[in-house]
Amino acid sequence: MSLDLPFDNSYARLPERFYTKMAPAPVAAPALVALNRELAERLGLDADALTSEEGVAALAGNAVPGGADPLAQVYAGHQFGGWSPQLGDGRAILLGEVVAPDGARFDVQLKGSGRTPYSRMGDGRAWLGPVMREYIVSEAMHALGVPTTRALAAVTTGEVVVREMPLPGAVLTRVAASHIRVGTFQYFASKDDKEALEALVAHAIARHAPGAKGALGLLQAVIARQASLVARWMGLGFIHGVMNTDNMTISGETIDYGPCAFMDAYHPLRVFSSIDQHGRYAFARQPNIAMWNLAQLATALMPVMGDDMDASRETAQEAIDRFPEQFQAAWLSVFRAKIGLESEEDGDAALIQALLERMSEGGSDFTNTFRALGSDAARDEFANRDAFEAWEAEWRERMAREGATPEDRVAAMRTVNPSLIPRTHRIEAAIEAGVDGDYAPFERLSEALATPFAEPGDFADLTRPPTEDEIVPQTFCGT
Ligand code: AMP
Ligand code: MG
Repeated sequence: MSLDLPFDNSYARLPERFYTKMAPAPVAAPALVALNRELAERLGLDADALTSEEGVAALAGNAVPGGADPLAQVYAGHQFGGWSPQLGDGRAILLGEVVAPDGARFDVQLKGSGRTPYSRMGDGRAWLGPVMREYIVSEAMHALGVPTTRALAAVTTGEVVVREMPLPGAVLTRVAASHIRVGTFQYFASKDDKEALEALVAHAIARHAPGAKGALGLLQAVIARQASLVARWMGLGFIHGVMNTDNMTISGETIDYGPCAFMDAYHPLRVFSSIDQHGRYAFARQPNIAMWNLAQLATALMPVMGDDMDASRETAQEAIDRFPEQFQAAWLSVFRAKIGLESEEDGDAALIQALLERMSEGGSDFTNTFRALGSDAARDEFANRDAFEAWEAEWRERMAREGATPEDRVAAMRTVNPSLIPRTHRIEAAIEAGVDGDYAPFERLSEALATPFAEPGDFADLTRPPTEDEIVPQTFCGT
């Protein structure tokens, strides 16, 4: 008996040059690490069937479920600013698109599923660490209310993957509104393939921007979504780490949790990724990089915006030029809520900046500082308490001009300032235990992060920043 899933594969119906149709490569001994029952239900899938032997075989790539039309997608991209004319799913296979009971369409992709024509020098595989990290962080992002790809399942393969040392192999089942990237458009633009660009625009509009008018309408929709997305990252102290154009979605979902991290001690120029030597993707540079990536999307779309190239260039430029104000508006709305403001005053941005400056001076914990605002505990987050108290007095004056009571304001702040984020040292500890076959820390962390705005209760230890010995100074690309 094989597993059937409710697939309807619209990407597989695009022209053949969009992908290579191929099945995932089987693995030696699939074993389930985690199945996301809540997400399975959201998709209308039978969680028990997925945990059965047939289900686990499908999640490992050993059996192709009925209705799937597996393929590896081709794309290109700018990586750290340098052009790569051909990338693509080098270690992933799109099984197909599941249409959920409410009509929403989701890509179901296996990541770590073996070599494809786009693997270049890679082995097409993933090891357990990055699979666990992506599972934890993408699900935490979802619980934090940020658009993101999600994790349906993680399995180990019973095979060894060689990185700096031999490590247990694993496969993640990733679920996304789609896997169409800025780099997907760049690939066809670089080949002067207008017909493919037009087909991709129509496909992307149908999936992500119904009602958008043509390539310009699509571009404007993506710009608006990315402005909002990056503002939300900034509001959580999240550093993506590899904002290459192949890692920026058209759907506006966060994708590719490689060397990402949530900051503990706040500094605007914080970088984690070991390969980001010049800090291109530092925390505070993320809005500028998003705009740079969107300009690449605009350039790719220009040939299909109309017959007059000069006019297209001008409209595309106008759309890009609006990004800073769109980002600023989104950023202000995120941070106003974080400090409890509902009304808008001209001085708000300066007030927020003044707090962030004080936080950066002594390396205040980003998450715990915002969570503590309004209580006596807040000043303990600052090396220079006097500087904070001066700010706090100003803030209380500003708060007094809000309609609601201070208690109501603080309660509202706690719905946007989480108590729990996936701290890097906790993720690393969960991975270390997982490699030894102990998934208890992974499961506990996942459970805690499912309700990040609740009072932490039994999970209070997970709100603690790393001690000197626990600090993870760098993160590595998850391959
Ligand atoms: P990423 O850094 O995850 O965005 O990946 C960049 C490119 O490298 C993509 O085309 C990936 O498919 C490819 N890639 C990353 N890791 C591997 C691997 N282990 N085997 C094959 N291709 C890979
Ligand atoms: Mg990628």
